[in-house]
Amino acid sequence: MLANSLIELDRAHLVHPFSCYRSHEETGVRVLKSAKGATVTDASGKTLLDGFAGLWCVNLGYGQESIVEAAAKQLRELPYATGYFGLGSEPAIRLAARLAELAPGDLNHVYFTLGGSDAIDSTIRFIRYFYHAKGTPQKDQFISVEHGYHGSSTAGSGLTAIPAFHAGFGVPYDWQHKIPSHYAYRNPVGSDPQAIIDASVAALRAKIAELGAGRVAAFYAEPIQGSGGVLVPPTGWLKALHAVCKEHDILFVVDEVITAFGRTGPLFACEEDDVVPDLMTTAKGLTSGYVPMGAVFISDRVYNTIADGAGKAPVGHGYTYSAHPVSAAVGLECLRLYEDSLLENGRKAGKRLMEGLRSLADHPLVGDVRGRGMLAAIELVTDKERKTPLPAAADPGRRIFERAWANGLVIRAFNSGILGFAPPLCCTEDDIDGILERTRMTLDQTLEDNDVR
Ligand code: PMP
Repeated sequence: MLANSLIELDRAHLVHPFSCYRSHEETGVRVLKSAKGATVTDASGKTLLDGFAGLWCVNLGYGQESIVEAAAKQLRELPYATGYFGLGSEPAIRLAARLAELAPGDLNHVYFTLGGSDAIDSTIRFIRYFYHAKGTPQKDQFISVEHGYHGSSTAGSGLTAIPAFHAGFGVPYDWQHKIPSHYAYRNPVGSDPQAIIDASVAALRAKIAELGAGRVAAFYAEPIQGSGGVLVPPTGWLKALHAVCKEHDILFVVDEVITAFGRTGPLFACEEDDVVPDLMTTAKGLTSGYVPMGAVFISDRVYNTIADGAGKAPVGHGYTYSAHPVSAAVGLECLRLYEDSLLENGRKAGKRLMEGLRSLADHPLVGDVRGRGMLAAIELVTDKERKTPLPAAADPGRRIFERAWANGLVIRAFNSGILGFAPPLCCTEDDIDGILERTRMTLDQTLEDNDVR
């Protein structure tokens, strides 16, 4: 009864992110009620393994009491402090300092946002300001990578290179450009790692030559492309592109909104790639999804150029909720938990997850298995030889999602037939084995479904 009335209220009033409004009205919302560890429970009492950590964000898992306590303490003591007028709060200052200590290289300055999209938007503004301050405002062209996702804000969605985020919105803008992705499973140059790196380097050089190096402001890349289908570049890819940017005095932005905070193993994925970017964006795992927060990390060089350029004038960029004290208190406690044991647990669980997914490679539907740590995907095809995707008209994403749900598993099922996995780092061996078992069950059922095949 309660659930029915909620479904009606949802249908009438709640606009859902990235959803097909009319189909959602027909199917109705699934209401989540509670969660613990790596499981979520819906309004009907059904408990499921959350193989996607919410939206690749609840890295520490649900029900971490010490996070609840940190938030409650801060809410009682000081629920809000603006960063305007030279004001601040202790948790925000301590979190910025700790993050600067943990971040690679000279990423010593942190600007807090509410999430990933406004972190990306903030980088665009900081970068424009940086070149303005340097006296080279003509460097105003931005390059990103096909299949990349950099948020859904007005400017950031144009750096995103997934057509569903563009149609009808008038983006990308004419200052936003793309190079092809490294997508190893479907790369025209084949799957040889060096050939893929060489092709990306050549594409970036060609794009820079086309635009003119004197006009290119920045290049954006994810260490692993997440929303584009969990596309893992070959080792050395990020470093090779970084070198091209350095050569041409182009700022290198690494978008770690998904990959940071243990998702791929270390605290920041670019550490593994041995790259220190000029700017780095994070969100999600920063507060493990318990409260909203994102962070832009800024190098000494970029920060000092902006600061010197501004002189006594304000840098005109700021949000009411920048450096929110409750989010910052949560962020500090999250860092403690990562360092205490959860990064380590995530690394072990990630090994088990990847091994288990690789053992699915012989399933008739599985064309590719890829991932790093607790970020993985399998790509389903109807013909392994030809790599034929599942027929989009059969709506495979929705159908596989629903089948997995019936089997007690939450995963990301892209309509391209890619299944994404990003379980909480707190997963036990049993949780991982449960995810794998329910995945195999879902694949077997999909194999029987003539419409999807
Ligand atoms: N960048 C990347 C790499 C992301 O994966 C996301 C979100 N999935 C964003 C930016 C945008 O973050 P948010 O949804 O918090 O605005």
